[in-house]
This record gives sequence, structure tokens and C-alpha cells, in this order.
Amino acid sequence: MTSKRDYYEILGVAKSASADEIKKAYRKLALEFHPDRNKNKDAEARFKEISEAYAVLSDSEKRSAYDQYGHAGFDQRYSQEDIFRNANFEEFADVLRNFGFGGGFGRGGNDPFSSMFFDFGGQGRSRKRREVGENLQTEIQITLEEVAKGTTREIEVSHNNACDRCKGSRAEPGTNSTTCDKCKGSGMVYVNRRLGPMIVRSAAACNSCYGEGRSIKQFCSRCNGRGTIEKHEKLEVTIPAGVEDGMNLRVRGMGRYGKDGSGDLYVYINVKPHAQLKRDGEDVYFETKINFIDAILGTKIDVPTISGSGKAELKIPAGTQPETVFRMKGEGLPNIERGRNSERGDELVKINVVIPKNLSRKQRELLEEFKKEDGKLFGVF
Ligand SMILES: [Zn+2]
Ligand SMILES: [Zn+2]
Repeated sequence: MTSKRDYYEILGVAKSASADEIKKAYRKLALEFHPDRNKNKDAEARFKEISEAYAVLSDSEKRSAYDQYGHAGFDQRYSQEDIFRNANFEEFADVLRNFGFGGGFGRGGNDPFSSMFFDFGGQGRSRKRREVGENLQTEIQITLEEVAKGTTREIEVSHNNACDRCKGSRAEPGTNSTTCDKCKGSGMVYVNRRLGPMIVRSAAACNSCYGEGRSIKQFCSRCNGRGTIEKHEKLEVTIPAGVEDGMNLRVRGMGRYGKDGSGDLYVYINVKPHAQLKRDGEDVYFETKINFIDAILGTKIDVPTISGSGKAELKIPAGTQPETVFRMKGEGLPNIERGRNSERGDELVKINVVIPKNLSRKQRELLEEFKKEDGKLFGVF
């Protein structure tokens, strides 16, 4: 949030102040804090502050926007340049002339404020824009078995790298580059802009040398002065155990080249659905059927598993009820953050019991016999 002071407070006027009162207040403060007269080190900042306050409060449209939105909302709508646009400081030229500026506003080169330079923090950005290469994206498909163990994949990536002949400098090795005439090697040029009563200096990258500060006499013969070379590379990507479908693995520096660092390569993980097992986080689910005799008498069944030999024996105890879920401890997947040797999730096996629809004559007789034998149990139905 902005920590700017209230404009009315800066000028020391009431919210209801008339245009005339605002003008008087500004005149008085401008006399006091004009940097040519006031040598206190904060005078310049104060002068800027009161001038900005005046630029807003002397313009009825800006003033009402400020009253309505406050600093935060106002600053979203108006840039520093907007604030000073059309603001009239001309009538204070007389005051400033008293301090030896001479001349007046808008009279050719005889500018009363031309000796006032302000470096605006953040406004005219004085730092060069960082040039980081673009990120790249690729996709790979892996199986659930690979998720369990972790795996590696060789992938091919087309990107660019700094030219290995000129090391990205764009100049032919052995030739000298000269300091850029325009920016004298700083890579920056300064532009003066008027903001109300102030001349603001802001910096921009030199357009003659693209901010590099030097002129290249002879371009590199391999990259023709681009500084980069297209490259087709194979690289091995390690896919950690426990990775989830839809995750993006980042391979640092494998994106496109940039002077201030290459971008990254993102590897999108697509986990192929397993034919029999369903995944839920670290657990896997398996659903199977047994016949009702096995449910009554108990049995052993083979169930597919995600690791080991790919199957395991599960004991179904006598009297297993339909839709019972058995938990096979540790037969699930590792957690990606805890690593492949961490405690794994479980495999949950749901047992459905099949009731036959058609019986042979013999089977029917046997079941009738069974019913007589255990009349009490089945009698309740
Ligand atoms: Zn080169
Ligand atoms: Zn330059």
C-alpha cells in the first residue's frame, strides 16, 4: 500500500479549500522548499511532494477523483505523467524568477526550471530490463509401475544456447568492440521529461547498442551476430517415485537462452491409467469377484500389485461378507516428497460376491440339503 501523505495535508489546506486558497498555499510552500533556495537535503523531496499535491488539487477533475478514491485508487488511474499533464505552474514563474531562474514557461530554451533535475525512483526505470529466456514445455507418459519405482526418460529438446564461438557476445572472437558513442558504454541513455515545475531524468536502454554499451565491429561468423545457436539436445530426466498425473517437473536452464539466464524446461507428467488398479494419492484400489462358496468357505486369491512381482496372494477368510474391503499394507505408492524408500500407501481390495443365477439340478438339491442342515441361520430370511 502507498504510504503517501494526504495531498491536503501536504499543502496544509482544508478539504473544502477554494482554488485560491490552494494556489496561495502552494506559492508559499514553493518559496520555502524550492531546492535552489532551500539547501536542506529533504527540500527536493518536499518540493516534489507539494508540486504533485498542487498538480492534483488545482485540477477539478483530478481533485474529485482523489477525493473519491484516495491515494490508492487515484494512483491506479493516474501516472506521474498524467498528474502533471496540463497542470498550470506558469503563474508561479514570477516567484521562481526571484530566485534567479529568469525567463518563463514555454518560452523556448529559456526555461525557468531547466536546472532542476529529479531522479524519480521507480518512475523512469533506471535499471535495465532483465532478459531471461522463455520456458519450454514438453510432455511424457509413464506407467503406474514407473510411478512406484521412479524412472528416467531421455527426452529431446530444441532450444538455443549461447553461441559457443562468441560466447554470446555477438562479436567475432579476436576483433575489438568499441565503446558505444551514444551511451559512452553505460548502455543507458537519459531522457529528460517535464513534470510540472520539474525536469525528471529517466533512463532507458541505449537504442544504438541495445544496452550493451559497446559497438560491434565484426559480427561472429558462426551465429551472424545473434549470439545464440539453435540446439537439438537429448537429455535424461529423472522422474521421482510417487509423481502424480498432471505434475510439471522443472528442469532448470533447459529453456530458451537469455542474456540474464536461460528459461526452464517443464516436463508435464501424464500417468497412463492402469488396466486393473486405480490410484488415489498413495493408495491403490482393486476390485474383484469371488463366488459365494469361496466367500463362505474362505480361499486364497491372486491380486495384481504395483510393485514386486506384480501380484500377491490375498487370503479370503471363511465367512467374508459381500463388499468387504481388505487392506494390504504397504502395497501402494511412495510419497513424492518423502522419497521412494519412504513408507508406502496401501492397496485396498474390494471383494464382490457372485451369486449364481442358474443352478444345475444337482446343485439345487445340494443347497436344499444345506438349508435343512442349517435351518436356523437361513430361516431368518
Ligand atoms: Zn557467435
Ligand atoms: Zn549505447
